[in-house]
Amino acid sequence: MDTAMLHSCEENYFPDCSIYSECIEAVFIYDKDGRIIACNRSAREELGYDGQNESIMSAFPKVFYKRNDELCLLDGIREDMLFDTVAYRKNMTCYPAMVKILKDKKTDYYICFAQNMSNENAAMKKMVSLEGKLKNAIQVKNEFIANITHELRTPVNGMKGFAQSLQKTKLDPAQQENVEYILHCCTNMEGLINQLLDFSKMEAGKVTLEKREFDFYHFIEETLALNLPQINEKGLRVRISIGKKIPQIVIGDEFRLGQIINNLFSNAVKFTQAGTISFEVVNTAQNGKEIELFFVVCDTGIGIAREDMDKLFNSFTQVDSSITRRFGGTGLGLAICKQLVEQMDGDIYVNSELGKGSTFSFSVRLDLPGNEKEEGEKEAEGFSTQWSQRLKEYMSVSESESSEEDTLKLMREKLERVLLCIELGTWEKADKFAGMMKAAMPDTMQELKREVFRLELMIRREDYDLSLQQVKKIQDKIES
Ligand code: ADP
Repeated sequence: MDTAMLHSCEENYFPDCSIYSECIEAVFIYDKDGRIIACNRSAREELGYDGQNESIMSAFPKVFYKRNDELCLLDGIREDMLFDTVAYRKNMTCYPAMVKILKDKKTDYYICFAQNMSNENAAMKKMVSLEGKLKNAIQVKNEFIANITHELRTPVNGMKGFAQSLQKTKLDPAQQENVEYILHCCTNMEGLINQLLDFSKMEAGKVTLEKREFDFYHFIEETLALNLPQINEKGLRVRISIGKKIPQIVIGDEFRLGQIINNLFSNAVKFTQAGTISFEVVNTAQNGKEIELFFVVCDTGIGIAREDMDKLFNSFTQVDSSITRRFGGTGLGLAICKQLVEQMDGDIYVNSELGKGSTFSFSVRLDLPGNEKEEGEKEAEGFSTQWSQRLKEYMSVSESESSEEDTLKLMREKLERVLLCIELGTWEKADKFAGMMKAAMPDTMQELKREVFRLELMIRREDYDLSLQQVKKIQDKIES
């Protein structure tokens, strides 16, 4: 109903049906006894009333009743409110209506507006029915995927087993190569099947996360090491930085967290031909029971166009089919990551520029064991020495702590240089100084650290205006 019109009616105090003649709602003007004084064209055409010796009660029997000859509104209905009821035509057929009754303060007449809701109700019914059908279709699709992937697993396992047996027999070099190719295909196929299974389980809300204690440092090492062969093969540089204040033992779903990191890290490796992949994790919030970790995976690869970034976390999305042909994949990895991150009470973001590289960042919350405080910090300190040879060369653990004043002084100095580099357009140097700022900051300055993270992203996108704005923001924060 057009509420603007209703208001103007109230303000004008003019119960003259001619002003409502073209309005699409049926409008009746009636007196305190319920006798219709006038009605508009809709009321005449839709309900068959003509305003001659008729009662408003006949049109809306479920709204009014008479007590000692006095016209009253049924319980729960008041003047000035919108309510659903049934409007009866003169011929006793009816339709659902939304009604409002106003009192004309000058004349003591009442105005009743009634909108025919048949079409809206039919549309609503259709929507509810479509929603049901859609839910059903999604369930059928998920069951289909679950069944078919399960069925596919058996032959793939068979092929893999036979290829492995064949590998142990005497083969000439060409045969050996072929068998290796078969094994490689089987591994890819297994990956696809697992992703599809995961995805259908998630859509059905059937993925529950485990809560088990695990050694965070060992976990990171094992997860990142999975990609070392491809990294070495491509000759990429790797930088790994682990915040010093992260306790060694945390509680959560190690397998699923590993899945997220591995997906992002392996994508970074997959889509980067030359340059650096960096992996960073810092502790952004902690209390006695919980810890929030912020992960950043950054590459100098092919990048993603701005218009494609929003779609990335949707299922089956790949930026470009030629890329898919070249690199393979299902387009499900990031959709799965997003769902897992959300289940771990976090968010995932991407920042990227075509041809320059991409930065994926996400946060998760993990539980801490009861005795975490003393033990965690003690063991974390020993971590850099425990770090095995495999990744040690890539590692940097946040620098040792200095006083807050010293840090702020250092920050001011570095920020000056960043600013100069931005002004000169020497982006690589600006990036380096921003990196130094970040490394110099203790985990207690998390908010500032996030701002420096953002600055780094803007510098990598070589965005002059945004970088300057961000420098200003950081300057203000340092001085406040
Ligand atoms: P896929 O299994 O196809 O890799 P993902 O969901 O992990 O599925 O990624 C979807 C698409 O997002 C990829 O096909 C690629 O086009 C794009 N993408 C993901 N990560 C990167 C990255 N680091 N650099 C460039 N493009 C990326």
